[in-house]
Amino acid sequence: MIEHRRPGVTLVMEHIAKMEMLLVSEPMLGSAEKAALSEVIEGGWITMGERVRALETAFAERHGVEDAVAVSSCTAALHLILHALGLGPGDEVLVPSLTFVATANSVLYVGAQPVFVEIEATDWPIMSLADAAAKCSPRTKAVILMHYGGYVANREAWREFAFARNLLIIEDAAHAAGADQAGSIGDASAFSFYGNKNMTTAEGGMIVAKDRSLLESMRQMRGHGLTSGTFQRFSSKSVGYDVTMLGYNYRMDELRAAIGLVQLANLDKWNDRRRQLTSRYMRTLAARCEGVQAPFAEWLKTANHMSSHHIMPVVLPKHVDRRRVIELLKAGGIQTSVHYPAVHELSYYRSRYPDVSLPVTEAYAGRVLTLPLHPKMDDQDVKRVVASLATAVHETRGAEAGKAVEAA
Ligand SMILES: *Cc1c(COP(=O)(O)O)cnc(C)c1O
Repeated sequence: MIEHRRPGVTLVMEHIAKMEMLLVSEPMLGSAEKAALSEVIEGGWITMGERVRALETAFAERHGVEDAVAVSSCTAALHLILHALGLGPGDEVLVPSLTFVATANSVLYVGAQPVFVEIEATDWPIMSLADAAAKCSPRTKAVILMHYGGYVANREAWREFAFARNLLIIEDAAHAAGADQAGSIGDASAFSFYGNKNMTTAEGGMIVAKDRSLLESMRQMRGHGLTSGTFQRFSSKSVGYDVTMLGYNYRMDELRAAIGLVQLANLDKWNDRRRQLTSRYMRTLAARCEGVQAPFAEWLKTANHMSSHHIMPVVLPKHVDRRRVIELLKAGGIQTSVHYPAVHELSYYRSRYPDVSLPVTEAYAGRVLTLPLHPKMDDQDVKRVVASLATAVHETRGAEAGKAVEAA
C-alpha cells in the first residue's frame, strides 16, 4: 500500500519515533476516531450540523450545565464571551500573566485593557486574590480565571471577590475539560480542544454560560450573526435569513465534532490516568529529586477531582541553568516545555505595558519546567523522567559550582 503522506511530516514523525522521544503531550487518537471521521465523509455533510449539536449536548451534560456552544477554538470562545458580555474600550479586565497569550489577547480584541495579576507563590502558582484586589480600579469590569494545569480556581473565594466588586467572572478553562467545577464558577467559560489539550478535535473549543440568552447570542455570533445556520435552512427548507448582530465565523465542523464525541467519551478515563501519573510524579520527585519543587502537591491530598491534571510543571532550584537541563533531558529522549513565559514579559506586551512588574510570576516563569504527562505514559516513564531530571539538575549545578570556583 502506498501512503500519501507529506514528506516533511513523515520525516518529523520518523525522527520522533527513531529518537523514541517521550513527548510533553500526545493526542490520544485511534481506530474509533478514524471510524468516526469515515462516517462523516461517507455521510456527505461536513460543515456544522447534527454532530456539532450532539457534541454540545454531551459536553454540557458532562459539565452539569444546561447547554453549550461549540466553536473553532478556545480563543474564539474567549473573544465571543468578552464581546457578548459587553466588555470594550475603557474597561479593565484582570488576567493572570502566568497563562497562554490568548487569555490576554482576547481582552485586546474587544478594545479593553488587560491588567496583569500576580500568582500566590512559586509552589502555589494560581492567581493571587490579594493582588487582584490591589489591582482593581473603578474601570475594572471582569476577571478571567485561568485554571492553570487543570487545577480549578477556588469557587467560593472568587465569587465573593467578584460579588463584592460587581465584577463579571470569565473562566479560561482551556486546561480543565472534565475537571469538577470547571465552568461552574463564572458567568461564562471557554474550553479548548487544541491538539495538546486533555481532549482534542485538533482545533476547537466550547462555551458554557449561566445565562441562557447570553449563550444563545453567542451561538448566533459564532455564525456571522445569522438568525439560522445553513443546516437549519437545509432541513427546514426556509429560504431567507436575517443578521441582527455583528457576528464572526467561529464555527466548528462535523469532522471535528465527530472526533470530539469519541474523545469526550474517554475523557474521564484519561483524566484518571493523568491523576495517577501526577501523584506518582509527586511521590517520586519528593523522594528522588531534592530541591525540585512540585507545585500542587498539597492539592492532590485534598481536592483530587477538581483538577484535570493537564500538565506537570516543576520548579527548578535557583541558579540551575534551565536551558542546559532541557538539553540534557532532550539528549536522553525526554521532551520538556515551559508553561509559561510570563505574558507581560513577551515583547508585544512589554512594549504596550512597559511598567508591569510581577516578581513572583517572573521567578516562576524563569524556573518552571513542564515534564511529559499524557495517558500513554506508564509508571516506568515517570521513574525515568525523574531520574533523568535529578541527574541533569545535579550536573548543571555542578557546572555552576565549578564556574564559581574558577571565578574565585
Ligand atoms: C490552549 C489555550 C488557549 C487557546 O486555546 P485554542 O483552542 O488553541 O484557541 C487559551 N488559554 C489557555 C490557558 C490555553 O492553554
